[in-house]
Amino acid sequence: MVCRRGCRKSVNREKSMNWKLRKKHEALLSRERGFVKKVWGTGCAVCLAYPNVYRVGMANLGFQTVYKIFNELTSFLCERVFLPAAGDGAESAVGAGEMLSLENLRPLRDFDILAFSVSFENDYPSILKMLELGGLPLKAQDRNEKHPLVIGGGIALTLNPEPLADFFDVFVPGEAEEILPAFARSYRQARQKELGRRELLYDLQTQVPGLYIPSLYNVDYLPDGKIERIYPLAKGIPQKIKIHSIKNIDAFCTAETVSSPDSEMADMYLVEVNRGCPHLCRFCAAGHVYAPPRFRSRQSILEAVDAGLKLKNKIGLVGTAVSDHPELAEICRYIAERGARAGIGSLRLDRLDEKTAQMLKTGGIETVALAPEAGSQRLRDLLRKGIIEQDIIDAAKMLIEKDILNLRLYFMTGLPSETDEDIDAIIELVKKIQHTAVSVTHGQKKFRRITLSINQFIPKPRTPFQWCPLADVRVVGRRIRKISQAFRKDKQIRILTGVPKWDFVQALLSLGDRRTGDILLAAHRLGGNWTRALREVNINPDFYVYRSKGTDEILPWDILDVGISKKALVREYLKMPAANEDKTAEQADFTPVF
Ligand code: SF4
Repeated sequence: MVCRRGCRKSVNREKSMNWKLRKKHEALLSRERGFVKKVWGTGCAVCLAYPNVYRVGMANLGFQTVYKIFNELTSFLCERVFLPAAGDGAESAVGAGEMLSLENLRPLRDFDILAFSVSFENDYPSILKMLELGGLPLKAQDRNEKHPLVIGGGIALTLNPEPLADFFDVFVPGEAEEILPAFARSYRQARQKELGRRELLYDLQTQVPGLYIPSLYNVDYLPDGKIERIYPLAKGIPQKIKIHSIKNIDAFCTAETVSSPDSEMADMYLVEVNRGCPHLCRFCAAGHVYAPPRFRSRQSILEAVDAGLKLKNKIGLVGTAVSDHPELAEICRYIAERGARAGIGSLRLDRLDEKTAQMLKTGGIETVALAPEAGSQRLRDLLRKGIIEQDIIDAAKMLIEKDILNLRLYFMTGLPSETDEDIDAIIELVKKIQHTAVSVTHGQKKFRRITLSINQFIPKPRTPFQWCPLADVRVVGRRIRKISQAFRKDKQIRILTGVPKWDFVQALLSLGDRRTGDILLAAHRLGGNWTRALREVNINPDFYVYRSKGTDEILPWDILDVGISKKALVREYLKMPAANEDKTAEQADFTPVF
């Protein structure tokens, strides 16, 4: 047997890669519990894709929820695919259609639907990579009836799907539990009518409230590059897509469906506790996009806990405001009484009291993450963090008194109106926490470590900061170096930081419109060389990243109405003293980075 180019060696290589990939998939599946393998050919086939490696994707509760929803539908079958890790066969088989689903080892082109679950903008390049590895056309307009329908959901696409508009046939924004079954019903009915692809898309857009089919909408631009209008291209489809949040989250159990020892969170059984957040910090996308805050009842959480305890002895309680759950202590006690441990994804430091600290200690937790976010009170107020320095010191003291001797502190730099004094305030605050730790332990117990996680602030759509520019990555780099210098000889302080280049790219993909898809495509074609892609594509990235937007502008993501009033966001934005300073910085910040 020879390949199309007549090369026997190449065919043999592909065969051996295929074999390697199959073996790897079989091994992964053999270690999993809870996966579903339906008989191929018995229903609409969905391949659920996570644009990152298996280890990361399997720790994502949203991804697992979509898997469960589709497989619970009798007329659907759902399998999984992940970004190949380095060394996997498919990694080097570009275009050869070598991406195989985990369960039935089917190539992507055999599925009716390819569904991406997308949580992070930095995973966008992997979406294009996976489409290519699957042998599918990257652009929606180049696909036809023979190709799977490429759909996407997840928080990143709910915040702003526009940079990916050219690559997706359908966006399914918002919370999946209600909209996905509605989509599946309409998709099946449309298929029975044997509609062509274009008719199918139109049918879905008219039948399923909350779906967004980007090819059915057009965007006009003003001469200065801003958006003039976004409008539907056909009659009978909504001007704006309204996304509803689920009223009763107890109606669905959102917990780990498939357990795998190869997942990032292998030791924990994940249970969702809440959605939304009552604090609405100004920078936080999750707090705003999943409003209003909703908490699961203790009863429904404990049912999920009981199921989890049959598999693991650690329960990971996840959500945006876990420590705000009114019955958190009782839930943790329930877990402890059964000889198991609880892990808490996020802990608001002003919610930490003796009871919670003791519960963390009993739960065997050795490291706790706290998020002061900023060093100065001025910036914490700007973020609407709702905490003062004493809250931070008290929280650290309480944890150390309970022998929790590793602290992780989250800070952001590059916040609107930030100055060098605010950076000095981070250094001062860390020193105060360290001093508190040492004095509490009286030198008798070894206080271990403070890990500082310092990330550049990236303005997110649907928050009051959505009109703010990104701070110059070079300035932020200098400020992070200042913090690193301050602790360079201190072995108790470890500093973790992001990469400025990726912060810029993340901001571009967060704040971009449809045109930024061209940059993403160029970066893909150039093997991930963003510097060249930004140089070669005739689009100024600073227009999206370093420009302060006017509150009267049409923003790319305005096509989706997620339920937060833009007026309310404007009010919050204008309350910030920094808002006006940003506007005057419009020209000064307009300098290319690459
Ligand atoms: S407390 Fe945390 S989850 Fe809630 S709004 Fe603030 S940053 Fe977001």
